Amino acid sequence: MSDKNWEKLKLEVIDSGLCTHCGSCVGLSKTLSFKDSFKNPIPEKTSAGKTSELSYLACPGREVNYPELNKFLFKKLPKNWLIGNYEKLFIGYSKNEEIRRNSSSGGIITHVTLYLLEKKYVNGAIVLNPDKKKPFASKPVIATTKEQVLASSQSIYVVTPLNTILSEADKFKSLAYVGLPDEVASIRKLQQLGKFQNINYVIGLYTGIYMHSGAIESYLRAHGVKDVDKVKEIKYRAGEWPGNLRIELKDGRVLSTPKFYYNYLLPFYVTNSSLYMCDFTNELTDISVGDAWHPKYEKLGQGFSVVAARTKKGLLLLEEMKKAGLIELQEVSEQEALSMHGHMLDFKKRGSFIRLAWKDRFVKKGKTFYGYEPVGITKKRMLVEAVNFMIFSLGRTWLMRRTIEHIPIGLMGRVFNVVRKSWKAMSKPTKRKGLHGQEFRVIGKEE
Ligand SMILES: Cc1cc2nc3c(=O)[nH]c(=O)nc-3n(C[C@H](O)[C@H](O)[C@H](O)COP(=O)(O)OP(=O)(O)OC[C@H]3O[C@@H](n4cnc5c(N)ncnc54)[C@H](O)[C@@H]3O)c2cc1C
Ligand code: SF4
Repeated sequence: MSDKNWEKLKLEVIDSGLCTHCGSCVGLSKTLSFKDSFKNPIPEKTSAGKTSELSYLACPGREVNYPELNKFLFKKLPKNWLIGNYEKLFIGYSKNEEIRRNSSSGGIITHVTLYLLEKKYVNGAIVLNPDKKKPFASKPVIATTKEQVLASSQSIYVVTPLNTILSEADKFKSLAYVGLPDEVASIRKLQQLGKFQNINYVIGLYTGIYMHSGAIESYLRAHGVKDVDKVKEIKYRAGEWPGNLRIELKDGRVLSTPKFYYNYLLPFYVTNSSLYMCDFTNELTDISVGDAWHPKYEKLGQGFSVVAARTKKGLLLLEEMKKAGLIELQEVSEQEALSMHGHMLDFKKRGSFIRLAWKDRFVKKGKTFYGYEPVGITKKRMLVEAVNFMIFSLGRTWLMRRTIEHIPIGLMGRVFNVVRKSWKAMSKPTKRKGLHGQEFRVIGKEE
């Protein structure tokens, strides 16, 4: 029996290398599943029958029509495509010391989610929790208790398909939802189609680079641990902000590496979606949150977030929490908010479009339709991308991945940090040139 929706999804997205691992198609159709959502989060057809059309339509690897979704959500196109639509921008943190210390940056997401549940504005929150059966991994849950919300704190940097939980979402009257840009885009596409109207608050993480689970296996092997089953607990941002990767093993050993050192794994395990997704600041949410990378805040430690209140509903919620003394918020200008992530904004708003076009032309046919694109990218900027393209292509080979495991992590982390900073400094004039004045144009599908 032919299964048109599955065939199209497989051809246009999965076989084209465009799957973002969001999990929507699996959550929306009983015919699909991930055989192993930690090691190989690629959807497969595992049951007979027809795959639902929604699985195909909701897929963010196929299409995220940003102009249309912006009009649907905000009734207008963004003034600035680098950051998307917003009401106000802030630097902030949770005033609950425990929440702030246990979270990735300022604990804003954990505290907002908890507040929504405690105030009964929602009766469940879609978040990630540690997987008790597989402590090396996380799994999506619909949190209904304070404990589950607190357990969701911290960023999970390895692929964890969140939207498989959609299969359970209809049981709830009102939900909060926390996700990455592709996962959020899929939810908004579904809402545009009249589905999941019970998801009332959408909160998103700024997202630069996401990694395959092989990153953790590689880190463990480099420490002589051959099996992820030896892991008792894993935290990606433990301790003082910006935090450490901290892995506690069942034999009592603790492995720990500062965030900026274990970043050495990024070029070796980066996902395709990180390279092709053009949304860094999670542009389709009610509230988006990232790290407030600025020497002023980094010097203070403790944890600071940059917060974009995108909708009136998101802004009202944040202001209510501030008034109740639960969170601290200082309004900042667009310029200040953007200055914290210049490198990543360029990586996504120019780099992703170049990489996607090159992938379509030289590597594998097929590209995600975003409905807009940057114009007038200079030859110099293309040259910078050619270097990035080479680094990622080489880095992701089996040989390079295995080679790095034989270099002591302390040394690897330090060398990577120096190389990263030097490359950033060298390419900065080209990457930043014209970034804030970068023009974009809305495009149709046939172009
Ligand atoms: C892969 C990834 C890349 C990122 N890249 C950047 C970056 O380049 N620059 C930047 O400024 N910020 C980045 N962030 C966001 C940053 O790490 C913090 O998540 C953000 O500052 C929010 O902090 P918080 O303290 O308010 O969140 P917390 O209070 O710690 O709450 C974290 C929330 O995020 C959810 N969550 C965590 N990981 C995932 C995941 N993988 N998928 C879905 N939901 C998840 C949890 O369920 C929880 O609800 C990234 C996050 C991730 C997961
Ligand atoms: S991007 Fe999401 S919806 Fe599309 S194929 Fe991958 S998991 Fe399925």
